Amino acid sequence: MEAFWGRSCCSSAKGLIVESYASFQFMSTNTPITVAHGDGIGPEIMEATLHILKEAGARLDIETIEIGEKVYLRGNSSGIDPSAIESLRRTKVFLKAPITTPQGGGFKSLNVTTRKMLGLYANIRPCVAYHPYVDTLHPKMDVVIVRENEEDTYAGIEHRQSQDVYQCLKLMSRPGCERIVRYAFEYAVRNNRKKVTCFTKDNIMKLTDGLFHKVFDEIAPEYPQIENEHWIVDIGAAKLADTPEIFDVIVMPNLYGDILSDVAAQIAGSVGLAGSANIGVKYAMFEAIHGSAPRRAGQNLANPSGLLLGSVMMLVHIGQADIAERVHNAWLRTLEDGIHTYDVFTEGVSTQKVGTKEFAQAVAANVGKEPEKLKVVRYSNGPTQDLTDRVSHYVPEVKEQIGVDIFINLVPESTDAFGNALSKVAIDGVKLVMMSNRGVKVWPNGFPDTLTCDTWRCRFMSSVMENGPVTHVQVIAQLQALLDAGYDFVKYESLCTFNGRADFSLGQGQ
Ligand code: NAD
Repeated sequence: MEAFWGRSCCSSAKGLIVESYASFQFMSTNTPITVAHGDGIGPEIMEATLHILKEAGARLDIETIEIGEKVYLRGNSSGIDPSAIESLRRTKVFLKAPITTPQGGGFKSLNVTTRKMLGLYANIRPCVAYHPYVDTLHPKMDVVIVRENEEDTYAGIEHRQSQDVYQCLKLMSRPGCERIVRYAFEYAVRNNRKKVTCFTKDNIMKLTDGLFHKVFDEIAPEYPQIENEHWIVDIGAAKLADTPEIFDVIVMPNLYGDILSDVAAQIAGSVGLAGSANIGVKYAMFEAIHGSAPRRAGQNLANPSGLLLGSVMMLVHIGQADIAERVHNAWLRTLEDGIHTYDVFTEGVSTQKVGTKEFAQAVAANVGKEPEKLKVVRYSNGPTQDLTDRVSHYVPEVKEQIGVDIFINLVPESTDAFGNALSKVAIDGVKLVMMSNRGVKVWPNGFPDTLTCDTWRCRFMSSVMENGPVTHVQVIAQLQALLDAGYDFVKYESLCTFNGRADFSLGQGQ
């Protein structure tokens, strides 16, 4: 490898070009990273970012991999080849430009795959206003969204249950919630933040979002110096869009975080300005929050700032806080100078409308300078956070099965007739206590106006005593009895108590 910012190339077995860069610094101080130039505007903004990093003296050895559209279109449905994964496993640090997911079914989201494959459980998205240099209704906004990155509806478990009904499972785990909530508090402590807010919808999803909220309430007292609060996500989102300055760090489950971080970035100034860090125990990935903007590709128009700020987070992560500071402050100074790409250009505020390349050159020329009006950024190196050992010890609870929800696929002539007939198929020791359709109780004593479709949740519980045990043997016998009576079942879910507490939802109206 060359000891300067030159380039050496070799071809991998898969025909991928593997490029290596080395900075002009001594090799021993360089950190290996993997870089993907992506699709659409990706290559332009990556080139701009790497140019600035180089000029700022970043100490990097770069392995370049190919991911995204070309990989998908040559038949790899995950958008990433095994040789590229090997590079990620080797360097453990990934700087990634946005990619295009081809239209049509059969292509898996590369972003979701990468986050899961590398265990990147925390997604950090700072959304900051740069008033008066970038137009915004919220000049004081400085919010960091900490999004859980692996669980929730993004577990990717979806099924078509019947002709009418599709389901997506929302999975939340205690260790998953503990890790992300603790990450948010640790982030607040390290970055001199004053408050952590939690957004959930636990008034409706009492078990899943309820767990996230409960874990937040358990962990918050460990950080007495940090204020904490919880908002239901709908009103929280409205407040975030209206008065973002009342928030500091906000931690939330995956789906809300995905949506609200785009909203937050946009109202701060532009999605083109926000960077994102995806952090795991061993690996980390840094990117812009926006996509590949194919309509802007190849025109030297795109704003490279999101990816550049992602790379600043990467520099801090790999212990190059000095370079991170130089890059970030040079970039702030460039904004202040009014040198702006088209997306943030404002007549009367901006001084020059520039393309991607010219913007990068302006930032590079400002390396060593600091902003005069905007707040100067300071970073320090610290130990990498490994929060795995902080997840609470697994203490087995007493689990008892007290019933079963069996989901049956049927188009009955009448709901009552179906419920009455089904109750006669209950085996000895078990009775049908309730049927719901689309979550609403429809038997016994349903509402005539409820719209029903062809999947029914049928709840069987002990007929011997209230909340008495229902064994696996009984469940299997019940399924067999349904089969013998000609019913088509889709799946079953156990109804259990944990340390005596029933943790399953009732049917609406039950
Ligand atoms: P997008 O973020 O790519 O673009 C939306 C619009 O935002 C663009 O048309 C453009 O006007 C503006 N914009 C975005 N980034 C900009 C920048 N750096 N500079 C200036 N303007 C910018 O969203 P989309 O159009 O919904 O998605 C396009 C493709 O990107 C899709 O294939 C999608 O799957 C993919 N995508 C990838 C990622 C990723 O790789 N992390 C994230 C989101 C979307």
